[in-house]
Amino acid sequence: MPIRVLSSEIVGKIAAGEVIDRPASVVKELIENSIDAGAADVRIEIREGGRRLMRVSDDGSGIPASELALAFARHATSKLSSAADLDRIATLGFRGEALASIAAVSLVTVLTRPRQQTVGQILVVDGGTVTRQEGRGAPAGTVITVEHLFRNVPARLKFLRQVPTEAGHIHTTVSRYALAYPEVRFSLTADGRLVFQSTGSGRLYDVLVAVYGPEIAEQMIPLEAAAEGRSTLSVSGYIGAPALHRASRRHITLFVNRRWIQDRSLSHAVAEAYHAMLPVARHPVAVVFLELDPQEVDVNVHPTKREVRFRNARQAFTGVQRAVRGTLVEHAPVPSLTHRARTWSTPEWGRRAVLLHPGQGEAITTQTAMELYRPAEDVAGPERVGPVRLPLLRVVGQVGQTYIVAEGPQGMYLIDQHAAHERVLYEQALSEQALSEQGPSEQASSTDSRKAFASQALLEPAVLELEPLLAGTLAENLLMLNQVGFQLEPFGGDATLVRAVPVILTESNVQQALEDILEMLRDRDDPLAAQAEERLIAAVCKRAAVKAGQTLSHEEMETLVRELEQCESPRTCPHGRPTVLHFSVDELEKGFGRR
Ligand code: ADP
Ligand code: MG
Repeated sequence: MPIRVLSSEIVGKIAAGEVIDRPASVVKELIENSIDAGAADVRIEIREGGRRLMRVSDDGSGIPASELALAFARHATSKLSSAADLDRIATLGFRGEALASIAAVSLVTVLTRPRQQTVGQILVVDGGTVTRQEGRGAPAGTVITVEHLFRNVPARLKFLRQVPTEAGHIHTTVSRYALAYPEVRFSLTADGRLVFQSTGSGRLYDVLVAVYGPEIAEQMIPLEAAAEGRSTLSVSGYIGAPALHRASRRHITLFVNRRWIQDRSLSHAVAEAYHAMLPVARHPVAVVFLELDPQEVDVNVHPTKREVRFRNARQAFTGVQRAVRGTLVEHAPVPSLTHRARTWSTPEWGRRAVLLHPGQGEAITTQTAMELYRPAEDVAGPERVGPVRLPLLRVVGQVGQTYIVAEGPQGMYLIDQHAAHERVLYEQALSEQALSEQGPSEQASSTDSRKAFASQALLEPAVLELEPLLAGTLAENLLMLNQVGFQLEPFGGDATLVRAVPVILTESNVQQALEDILEMLRDRDDPLAAQAEERLIAAVCKRAAVKAGQTLSHEEMETLVRELEQCESPRTCPHGRPTVLHFSVDELEKGFGRR
């Protein structure tokens, strides 16, 4: 179709406002245009995280000379002609806004030639005004170069993050399109270095290898969904085996009709399907595609088209959940009863009781189970322990490999082992740090400045390859990480050399530990540096603390409880969750009808 300006009637029906808020949104729009133009090869080149330059070259349809300037008018598109088309959108773009929005805030140069024409055209748009258009020899396809982004919008410019972070966002964006379009060959070059490339083989697995690396791709299982009834919904993709898990939900990637989307409910459907297979607070890695009739899904609801609305959301949810669950049950070893008991995370108390006493099985009634394992919220007013210190406690034992049962003068105490350990480590780290702030004059013995964590040099420095987003987070926090007890150095590209880590982390997998900590830092972006350091310390402590599901010896529990008793604020973990629940003697007696 030729490019035309949409009628005001259609414009009125379009979710308004293409948002160009960072370099990655420019790259996203340009890639979408290349795909819509039928390209088989899309090359992306960026300089300085996209600030200086972004260039997307494709071998697609090209733009006819007569329509080229019009492409930059607002609401000019070749993809929609009637309002009815809005109900069955099959292209990635449809609003005719992106090029106009990009050109308004940068310097754009287009070089394009439709295959059937012999000469191409060059067009320059500076801050929204066409300054040049003329014939020019060009390869078939389109090359769009965007320079000096936000040069004329200082407010936006100020909000751009450091180069590695913006480059990381662009890398993530490119990877998503590569996953959605395995038949298209993508490459990304950043400051002259090739940082990503897909083969265009048409096989999703090849893209997984390019995006995640062979080790992770090997742990992914093809998602198999039996078509159900007359439903038009099909679900496909790859999901991580349960042994592959991450600290955030971010690694669940969803596509609807090959459009990357964010959808909390569908992410939840994926995570839910792993129920009891992953350790507490860990999330799966998954790439899930939903295909359905375009009329069954509205893509015209969000300015950046990042969210969609399903006509039948329930169907989408159950479709995804069943597909994932079915695939897991078929391919992943079913966790044993004891394993399940170790990783339970939701209060299914009756079942837990059975799991905890597999020998006795049904002999324990749900009634007794409720009494034994009732969750705190179900108890009439379980007191959180008084405002300050804890009383001296006697450790009785461990429940569900998660809680320590203890007795004190005022009744029974349930201690969350993970939260409690986090608190202990956190206070120890802060007091280490405080010692350093008193300075060497008062601390005659130690002249070097103290770190929150003693660091432990690795026997052999490790080279970690981080995914681009985390590499960006690392670059932004490098100084701070090195201040608290890491010793990290950039090692070219997205690689980092790890020389030392906080002693409390040395027993864990360094790569995984660092990734988890960066993930936690990412989750709470906050510019306040002072708090940022405390948050980093809290993140290290969270990573180092004993986990729910770990069996503790009696001595370990005693030590933990003693240390918790010494804390300034023993009642909450550094993130504010309670560490201890208290059931008073009074309450217990009432509960058992003794009074
Ligand atoms: P939309 O994609 O919503 O139509 P854009 O502003 O992104 O709006 O693009 C306007 C028009 O310019 C498109 O409809 C298309 O006809 C043309 N166009 C943009 N980029 C390309 C490209 N890489 N190859 C061919 N045509 C393009
Ligand atoms: Mg577009």
